[in-house]
Amino acid sequence: MTAPLVAGNWKMNTTVSEGIALATALRDVVDTSAGVEVAVLPPFTHLWPLHDVFAGSGILLGAQDVFWETSGAYTGEISPTMLAGWCDLALVGHSERRHLLGETDADVGRKFACAASNGLRVIVAVGETETERDAGTTFAVIDRQLEAALAPFESPPVPETFVIAYEPVWAIGTGRTASPEQAQEVCRHIKDHLAASLAVTGVRVLYGGSVTADNAAALFAEADIEGALVGGASLHSDKFAAIVSAAAASSPPAR
Ligand code: PEP
Repeated sequence: MTAPLVAGNWKMNTTVSEGIALATALRDVVDTSAGVEVAVLPPFTHLWPLHDVFAGSGILLGAQDVFWETSGAYTGEISPTMLAGWCDLALVGHSERRHLLGETDADVGRKFACAASNGLRVIVAVGETETERDAGTTFAVIDRQLEAALAPFESPPVPETFVIAYEPVWAIGTGRTASPEQAQEVCRHIKDHLAASLAVTGVRVLYGGSVTADNAAALFAEADIEGALVGGASLHSDKFAAIVSAAAASSPPAR
């Protein structure tokens, strides 16, 4: 059985001092000894001070994005080599970057490959819009995003080095969580498609989209949901700790 991963994406929230206070509160209430991997993805400005706050706590530190080159004339970008060695994870492909900032499927693949080759573990976010779901194209969209994410690799990366986060765009920050059945259906499909078309097995799949302390247990009870990418609720130490506890208590039939 693989440990679930619960990752908190703070997005563009908190000043540095507020972030240090939140991280300190999280460190004090989140149980990292219960078989759950816990990660926090603060803004870039917070990563270095939070590295100190989380030292020895077992809480992993991750970036919300990363660039696809290691250095050069890319004003404003942060490269994987700047994070390697002290930062654990990088998120790529979040829907806010895809849809608000115009990131393409190919950009996500380039970022994934550069982060992975620099030793960062990667959370690759995929998900359909409401229009795509209504048009019955959810699986096709997910398949396209997965294939593009893995396209730069000559051979698939080992499963310990990345996770897929299924985040339906219509559920992110809307309070409209996918039902456990809807989330399970797509998480299962992701595993099937990775195995059948991309020769990748054993990768954890997370769900993200309005996960709360109230709905987390039902989501984690599904067989193919192995953790969560949490936005809004990760800004509250008690709510985030409750989601981590729900993951620890879940014992799905087939991990
Ligand atoms: C996210 O930003 O990845 C996310 C899932 O946000 P929220 O939990 O607020 O829907």
